[in-house]
Amino acid sequence: MQTVLDLHQRPLRSLRVSVTDRCNLRCSYCMPEEEYTWLERDHLLRFGQLTEVVRAATLVGTRRVRLTGGEPLLRRELWRLVEQLAALELEDLALTTNGVHLAQQVETLAQAGLDRVTISLDTLRPERFRKLTRRDALEPTLAGIEAAVQALPGRVKINTVLMAGVNDDEVHDLLAWAQDLGCELRFIEYMDVEGATRWSASRVLPASELLRRLDQAHGPVEAAETSTSAPARRYRLGSGQTFGVVASTTAPFCGSCDRARLTADGHLFTCLYGAEGLDLGAPLRAGEGAPELARRIRTAWAARTDRGAEERLARPDREASLTEAHTLRSAPQREMHTKGG
Ligand code: SAM
Ligand code: SF4
Ligand code: SF4
Repeated sequence: MQTVLDLHQRPLRSLRVSVTDRCNLRCSYCMPEEEYTWLERDHLLRFGQLTEVVRAATLVGTRRVRLTGGEPLLRRELWRLVEQLAALELEDLALTTNGVHLAQQVETLAQAGLDRVTISLDTLRPERFRKLTRRDALEPTLAGIEAAVQALPGRVKINTVLMAGVNDDEVHDLLAWAQDLGCELRFIEYMDVEGATRWSASRVLPASELLRRLDQAHGPVEAAETSTSAPARRYRLGSGQTFGVVASTTAPFCGSCDRARLTADGHLFTCLYGAEGLDLGAPLRAGEGAPELARRIRTAWAARTDRGAEERLARPDREASLTEAHTLRSAPQREMHTKGG
């Protein structure tokens, strides 16, 4: 089968597979509510079924896969899925995790064929970590990061969501820490994705302001080589240290967006802001295999016009969050922690 293009000529090169909607943290920008509606347990795809969907995606051009969640390391024996996916000979098989359980698992995951890992960390201060995530888990997270650097040297990145007035005073500390560790840090703008029910425009630290501050503190910041497939733009400080900036809120990159997202119960979303996913779980349960699923994916992607973040940016009333918590309770697939970030 041929690579599929959407109506803006964007290929489907990359798939984010959310393996669970559960999480052991409650980050304020992702899961700020007390109660959530969880996906039905008996609808969660088994590893063999997830692999079948990924195989289908490869038939229409997908080459890169990232496992995410919720917290993907909560899914028991995740290494088995990694092993199955590694056999598909993808260009890149990566994982995004909060790192809390990484120290115990990263070596097995690397042996199973994981290429790279990205770990989310927004603060180095225990008290602030507790406030931001509503859990006391900075120590295991840092241990997980150190173990990852040992197991996957040169293949570990750190994601930091910067929020104005919350953790933007730690930019320099985080950069210095990442430099010592030998990891590249990527600063992500706070997005008003579904699930970010406490989002407000005043909490966004625009990438332009971040770069201005870094310029002031460290001398001229230069542009560094940037991969066309990654959402982050890379920069270099005078010291030679490189870092990334994902300006998803103030300068979205929908024009080159080549990614789809699969929920743990088999809903395929062609945009992070999409309200409805294509249900691949039901056909899978009815016995369809990769070729049939590939046809479904092809049809959906070929009709794609999504430019969610650009449309949000263009809205004059963009002040409060996108969707209210009570709406998400009846449509849990739309949550960021279900779609996978
Ligand atoms: N639990 C894992 C983790 O935190 O790395 C994987 C899933 S999480 C949904 C994936 C990424 O989405 C994380 O790096 C997180 O920081 C990011 N994220 C979640 N909500 C966000 C928001 N409102 N704005 C920007 N990034 C967000
Ligand atoms: Fe935080 Fe990731 Fe859990 Fe969301 S899914 S609450 S970003 S750890
Ligand atoms: Fe892609 Fe949608 Fe994100 Fe734009 S908003 S970059 S189209 S997922």
